[in-house]
Amino acid sequence: MSDAKNNSDTGGEDELVLVALGGLGEIGMNVYLYGIGPPEDRRWLMVDLGLTFPGDNEPGVDVILPELKFIAEQNKQLDGIVITHAHEDHLGALIESWPQLKCPVYATPFTVGMLKAKLAEFGGDLKPDIREIPIDSKFKAGSFDLEFVSMSHSIPETSAVVLRTPHGTVFHTADWKLDENPLVGRPTNVERIKQIGEEGVMTLVCDSTNAFRDGTSPSEAEVAKSLTDIIAEQTGQVAMTTFASNLARVYAASEAAKATGRRLLVAGRSLHRVIQVGIDTGYLPEDFTYLDQEHFRHMERGEALVIATGSQGESRAAMARISEGSHRDVKLVRGDTVIYSSRTIPGNEKSVMAVQNLLAERGYKVITDADGLVHVTGHPRREELAQMFAWLKPKALVPMHGEVRHLQENIRQGAEAGITNSQMITNGQMLRLAPGKLKQIDEVPVGRRFRDGRLVISEGENAVRDRRRLAIVGLVAVAMAVDQRGNVIGDLDVAIDGVPSHNARGDLMEDLILDAVEGTVDSIPPKRRKDLEVLREAVRRSVRSVVDNAWGKRPIVKVLMTELRTKG
Ligand SMILES: [Zn+2]
Ligand SMILES: [Zn+2]
Repeated sequence: MSDAKNNSDTGGEDELVLVALGGLGEIGMNVYLYGIGPPEDRRWLMVDLGLTFPGDNEPGVDVILPELKFIAEQNKQLDGIVITHAHEDHLGALIESWPQLKCPVYATPFTVGMLKAKLAEFGGDLKPDIREIPIDSKFKAGSFDLEFVSMSHSIPETSAVVLRTPHGTVFHTADWKLDENPLVGRPTNVERIKQIGEEGVMTLVCDSTNAFRDGTSPSEAEVAKSLTDIIAEQTGQVAMTTFASNLARVYAASEAAKATGRRLLVAGRSLHRVIQVGIDTGYLPEDFTYLDQEHFRHMERGEALVIATGSQGESRAAMARISEGSHRDVKLVRGDTVIYSSRTIPGNEKSVMAVQNLLAERGYKVITDADGLVHVTGHPRREELAQMFAWLKPKALVPMHGEVRHLQENIRQGAEAGITNSQMITNGQMLRLAPGKLKQIDEVPVGRRFRDGRLVISEGENAVRDRRRLAIVGLVAVAMAVDQRGNVIGDLDVAIDGVPSHNARGDLMEDLILDAVEGTVDSIPPKRRKDLEVLREAVRRSVRSVVDNAWGKRPIVKVLMTELRTKG
């Protein structure tokens, strides 16, 4: 495999490549493309099509989608999209992106169920070509020979993808952990993984999220037991929040309710959706019982276990409303308990803390994973990585699903297991997996698109960048009417937004601006004033500078000039 004679740059030759349009160098928005064939005629397979969530740098943006230009322009070469599991960072961009790609989508029954539930809610009349593949089975997507292998994670039916190519076998782990008792769904299919290792694995493409964490992660069953113990100790009402897609945790909550003599209530639409898909696909018992949130008011104190959306501090979700006391049905009182059965995704710390502070201020007891085993990760820690390396014995390692430091650390872990042919790539960097050693051979365009209200806009469009600037420096608008000679007619008008109203001496900012504009107009010789662009730019600069002098910041300045035709 690592024959040195094959290491030269082999342009035009049949090769196997990997390039990510998202997910490498970040945790979120996973989109991986495998290409096979000569560079001018590759067939492509997409693995996952996820989104990511905005942070402080993307004010007002709802979700962030991958820029797919690279593959959309050659969508006839795209044989299929394989979805490894139903987390938003792996399938969340599918509905919006499918019209650009128009190829079959392959996924296991639970993932298909989640996708169809989302399509029914948000898909309009979109009808993607979805093909349901049984778990742990082999299938073909165009020219690709594939197999799903069950992996435990934090949502049912997460599947690794095995690609068998003429060059060798690639094992793409998807998100995974080792959990012998995942509570809902299958444990990682260790037997099959060992067999594939025996057959020989050329390249392992592996989850890096927890590469810095030692040991192994506890199982879902242990979390369920611990949750039950914690809930049993509470005397008032208990509200618990978790990721809506974590069906095992939903099941654990229902078992905990039974064990502690409480009744399970569900608050939040996405939880209802997941539970329904869970029942339809047989992961929850058909008689899975829970009550809707409006029953809360009829319950005795100590009788309810509410499971609620909003573990990430989302302002419109149930938990935020409970913290504000504004939830229509669920009203807690002093001494009641809130359990965060979740992890805070990096970037959400401030909003989660804000909700937790409000809950604490109201006198509710807040229990997080700092207080006990109420959550467990869905990603492999170091010992789990070492286990996978030992089972698969891959000749090469490419880390995925991580920020740069996670990817590097995964490579270091691999080296400790004796895998020396490894390489980190980030979004857009095309890596040749075969023939020869791993080698970066190309770079393709990548980027992000923003779902912003009803529109999807491109990152380059500046709307969001401008919004960010507005948030920091505010806006001054000056409206003026001028005649052809550049003389101001009538009164100037000025409006400020997000700019302090007075300077330190107490003068009105608007007055300072008006004085500056008048002074500037007067100072321009009549000949030059006729050029309205010169006039506009002079006004803009003087406004920026007068506000800068008063405030120490330069606002965005808009000068709206109307030219009035006068006689004579
Ligand atoms: Zn996941
Ligand atoms: Zn993920």
